[in-house]
Amino acid sequence: MVFKIYNTLTRKKEEFKPLEEGKFKIYTCGQTIYEDMHIGNARMYSNWDILNRYLKWKGYGVFHVQNITDVGHLTDDADQGEDKVEKSAREKNMIPEELVTKQVKRYYREMDSLNLGDYNVVPRATGHIPEMIEAVEKIIENGYGYERNGSVYFDVKKFDEEHDYGKIARKNIEDLRAGAGGRVTEKETKEKKNPLDFALWIKADPSHIMKWKSPWSVGYPGWHLECSVMSTKYLGERFDIHGGGEDHMFPHHPNERAQNYAINNLKEEPVKYWVHGKFLTIDGEKMSKSKGNFYTVKDLLERYSGETLRMLFASSHYRKQMDFTEDSVQEAQKKLEKIYNTIYLIDNSEGGEGMSLTSKITQLRKQFEEAMDDDLNTGKAVNLLLQFSKEVNKSLGNRKEVLEEAKETMKELGNILGLKLEESGSVGGGEKDVEAFIDLIVQVRDKLREKKEYELSDEVRKGLKELGVEVQDTDDGVRWKKV
Ligand code: AMP
Ligand code: ZN
Repeated sequence: MVFKIYNTLTRKKEEFKPLEEGKFKIYTCGQTIYEDMHIGNARMYSNWDILNRYLKWKGYGVFHVQNITDVGHLTDDADQGEDKVEKSAREKNMIPEELVTKQVKRYYREMDSLNLGDYNVVPRATGHIPEMIEAVEKIIENGYGYERNGSVYFDVKKFDEEHDYGKIARKNIEDLRAGAGGRVTEKETKEKKNPLDFALWIKADPSHIMKWKSPWSVGYPGWHLECSVMSTKYLGERFDIHGGGEDHMFPHHPNERAQNYAINNLKEEPVKYWVHGKFLTIDGEKMSKSKGNFYTVKDLLERYSGETLRMLFASSHYRKQMDFTEDSVQEAQKKLEKIYNTIYLIDNSEGGEGMSLTSKITQLRKQFEEAMDDDLNTGKAVNLLLQFSKEVNKSLGNRKEVLEEAKETMKELGNILGLKLEESGSVGGGEKDVEAFIDLIVQVRDKLREKKEYELSDEVRKGLKELGVEVQDTDDGVRWKKV
């Protein structure tokens, strides 16, 4: 069966044919590490994780690079404003490197909790400054870059005449300019030949902290440059898939593509398939700190397991906007419980003589693969697993070895979606089991409260507190966290 993926370059679902037989090289844009990972970032990383797991399962040798941006991402897309890391560090009374160290540590912890992070290389921008300077030199040498007052810019017009700069955004450069808000910044009038030109190297103001010596000035790299340099360093001049969120369809990815062409004077597309995931919204709105609807992964992991969040992400297609609500997580939790329940039933069944599940297993495998081959239809894949789990519940009289095969199949396919599905039913088997038990006790306490058995319910709450679990009664229901 052939895997098909939607390519933003052609706006078509295309058969996936890697550049090198049997191999799969992918680069995805990662975290700008100035603050905590939010639930939207996590959704995006889950998409790429599923893609990688699936292609590995199909037999490809996967090599995945995802960067960490620790310098150069400015608060303003027009090459103005403050470096996001420096600004956040200043607000927290830290030096930038201190903030980055702290955030990177947390990032890895959270990625682990989400069963993410199976990367081959996670390069950081600050570790690649010499390569970036070299790349700027090559871009100038190849005629696509020019220097002005110590900063270096990319000549978008020249590139556009050869390789259609707006191909990813599907817009011509006039429209892109108009879409940039019609705002002409000081730098655009003073230094850039054309307002769409973007910075490769930026001369630092004296107050700027993260800066390096270069042939043009003491300065720092433009944000887009790191991805071009690190993708080619670890994957080669051309590679298979480049992924990112829909926000990167302009300006980040058109700029990356232009740089990749220019650094190596390429004649062919540097990346075969550009893949973009849609954003996650909260209660129908864009997530924003000022609206107070900003969920970090850290907050959510206090209330839900990483596996529940992965079930939530897998339940919707990566090219559809996903709306995060408390109900949607609860629903994901229920789905997960259904699968765990089936695994539990299998583990506790002695089996019988039936064989009916054998053909159902074959059918599940086939349908699952068809769904995933169709541009990663993970929502359908989840539904297939749930339907199958229902079938199993009705078929516990099947032979024990058939039941075991059903269980292993559910685990194998669930793993592709990022679910762990391990250690069911045994206390102390792992963090997840402990959490399931706490959930159960908290639910029992809730039932006691419904029956106005307050004395007993308070006793349960006290007991949990002594065990380091704090129960909170909120308007949205009962929550707990480890303290
Ligand atoms: P950033 O840290 O903003 O550079 O983003 C890291 C990755 O998360 C990029 O691929 C973004 O496109 C993606 N991303 C940022 N915000 C959201 C969101 N609300 N929903 C989904 N993906 C997002
Ligand atoms: Zn990038």
